[in-house]
Amino acid sequence: MLPTLYERFPLRELNTFGVEARARHFCRVRNADELAALAAEPRLAGLPRLVLGGGSNLLLTGDFDGLVIKVEAPGLRDLGEADGVWRIEVGAGENWHATVERLLAMDRPGLENLALIPGHCGAAPIQNIGAYGLELAERFDSLIAWDLQTQQQVRMSAAECDFGYRDSAFKRELAGRRVILAITLALPKQWQPVAGYADVVHELKARGVAQPGPRDIFDAVVAIRRRKLPDPAAIGNAGSFFKNPIVSREEHRALIAHYPSLVGYPLPGGRVKLAAAWLIDAAGLKGATRGRAGVYEKQALVLVNRGGATGAEILALAREVQDKVAEKFGLRLQPEPVIV
Ligand SMILES: Cc1cc2nc3c(=O)[nH]c(=O)nc-3n(C[C@H](O)[C@H](O)[C@H](O)COP(=O)(O)OP(=O)(O)OC[C@H]3O[C@@H](n4cnc5c(N)ncnc54)[C@H](O)[C@@H]3O)c2cc1C
Repeated sequence: MLPTLYERFPLRELNTFGVEARARHFCRVRNADELAALAAEPRLAGLPRLVLGGGSNLLLTGDFDGLVIKVEAPGLRDLGEADGVWRIEVGAGENWHATVERLLAMDRPGLENLALIPGHCGAAPIQNIGAYGLELAERFDSLIAWDLQTQQQVRMSAAECDFGYRDSAFKRELAGRRVILAITLALPKQWQPVAGYADVVHELKARGVAQPGPRDIFDAVVAIRRRKLPDPAAIGNAGSFFKNPIVSREEHRALIAHYPSLVGYPLPGGRVKLAAAWLIDAAGLKGATRGRAGVYEKQALVLVNRGGATGAEILALAREVQDKVAEKFGLRLQPEPVIV
């Protein structure tokens, strides 16, 4: 059945930056049948599509002259255990954090490091969400999506999603092409804590926890995030605006020679992931304000809407950050959110 179509639909409440923008057409979908009906609708023929989840990882720079499809596919199904993992299928429209919490309550731990990441389950594969030493790819089995070109449902394995650091095929060759309807998680039956990340180590120590269980990690991550990250309900933002750049060992050596306090994390194979927040801070931009957009004072990686900023203002600030960091360090930061 064709979902209800709305015209000139306001998107301000549907993006965590809280910027004003309108969709020429807007609808909510729950399943593949509704997507098939949209494909057959003459009014929408040839129009660009934008798929929307919780709107917490995109920057709208103007009105969208096409169809915005908000995915609200519901449900959570325990598919049982095989090969040492629990498989759980979750509808794309389910809230991510609520799902992490629900699985913990069902005695299906494994996602607690990713607690409190805003947004919906269907968007989690898009940038292979990650935090505090864990990425979705490590807990992922497969997904079901609708292909907007062939108008058919497909199942994709982890290999086909081609996950990388805050990256997947959905940000590259499949950009804008697939609507994810459900994801299947793979949670190891033998739970092991992922507690090597410095912030998590300190938080557990401060709480007097020597042998953490899933609930301890969950509580620690939630507490750290509440302290560090701005709540989009209070101040518009999309979390980290830039990816941490990855450089070769030689490039790292050359940078450290000039900037001994540069923060970096060694990666397997000799490469080094640099803290983009440190680079932005060192470029003198932490806490900066340009018009109604700003660089968050407690975390330079986060750009914020200080009230009434347009997407274009935030984008201009992002470009300034990229230019100043490039000028000083010879590295061009890459944005993490999708810029529409
Ligand atoms: C305060 C804050 C903290 C954050 N912390 C983290 C963090 O620690 N780690 C991290 O990885 N991210 C983080 N993020 C970013 C964001 O929460 C995640 O990327 C999240 O997965 C986005 O989900 P969403 O439903 O809001 O996606 P949206 O913003 O709605 O969409 C993001 C992209 O995914 C596409 N998309 C969404 N749903 C679907 C679907 N069903 N099918 C196909 N494409 C789809 C959209 O077209 C768009 O390109 C943070 C954001 C905020 C605001």
